[in-house]
Amino acid sequence: MARILDGKAINQQILEELKPRIARLAQTRRKPGLAVILVGNNPASEIYVRSKVKTCVDLGMLSEEIRMPDTISTADLLDRIGTLNRREDIDGILVQMPLPRQVDSRAVLLAVQPDKDVDGFHPYNVGQLVANAPAPRACTPAGIMEMLKRSRIELAGKEAVVVGRSDIVGKPMALLLLHAHATVTICHSKTHDLPAVCRRAEILVAAMGRTAFITADFIRPGAVIIDVGMNRVTDPAEAARVCEGSPAKQAAFEKNGSVLVGDVHPADMAELASAYTPVPGGVGPLTIAMLMANTVQSAESRLA
Ligand code: NDP
Repeated sequence: MARILDGKAINQQILEELKPRIARLAQTRRKPGLAVILVGNNPASEIYVRSKVKTCVDLGMLSEEIRMPDTISTADLLDRIGTLNRREDIDGILVQMPLPRQVDSRAVLLAVQPDKDVDGFHPYNVGQLVANAPAPRACTPAGIMEMLKRSRIELAGKEAVVVGRSDIVGKPMALLLLHAHATVTICHSKTHDLPAVCRRAEILVAAMGRTAFITADFIRPGAVIIDVGMNRVTDPAEAARVCEGSPAKQAAFEKNGSVLVGDVHPADMAELASAYTPVPGGVGPLTIAMLMANTVQSAESRLA
């Protein structure tokens, strides 16, 4: 029977461990502060920002939500980031992506001061990651590493396959696994015979954004599977395919008319993996926990 890697429980552990560090800062200096910039009214972004702000407040941190219209210019957004860079009470600046088309996202990424870049996306921090030097790490891959560590999953010498090469998940994930001494293969849409490459994996990370794409023929029996994908299924035929063998998912679809599924087929994963992250409740909660951890770490370094 596969072990379920419970992201919600690990999220709680991480947040509990942050509380005394936050209290110490609040008593001796000041609360750690996170500014979240939300441009426009993208409903998914609104949900992400709301939960980031709420977690901050629940932990007793300073949280500032800055809303800007979707007609904003790059110059105005850079100006706002400049102000936050100069503010003493702000330790982390997060610009919620995606940004409207007219905004130069690369310029925005470069504008956030590296020591306040709690998303770990600034090229300076990416360079530090490549060099395995201390710096804020991208939250989703950092959360996955924390989960693997706390679940005592051995990585040294293991065959790890990461499917997806995005700057926010796939690439940093592969580097972190490499630094943990795994033998790492990165796959993408041009990879030949993806099932055969994935079948080599003792640790398989799926971060492709393709609903239940990874099925039994991709999975080495006994693999540890980390399913990063978050895909909402509303089509009944697709739901029938992805919910097959998962009564709880079938029930969720029948009740809500939609169901959240990762990049790995849920029943195949449960049957073949030795341990896996469920969707939802696996990787997602860790992303927020690591954002909080990066902000506290930034405050501690800046106030040391
Ligand atoms: P991107 O769309 O930026 O990247 C997807 C990657 O998957 C690309 O490298 C792409 O290859 C690769 N890919 C797509 N289709 C295939 C295929 N058929 N075969 C092999 N490789 C393929 O996505 P993200 O990295 O931003 O996100 C990935 C998933 O993770 C999404 O579902 C997203 O919602 C989820 N996510 C979840 C988070 C969480 O907290 N749980 C946080 C961030 C993301 P190529 O480069 O060749 O195009």
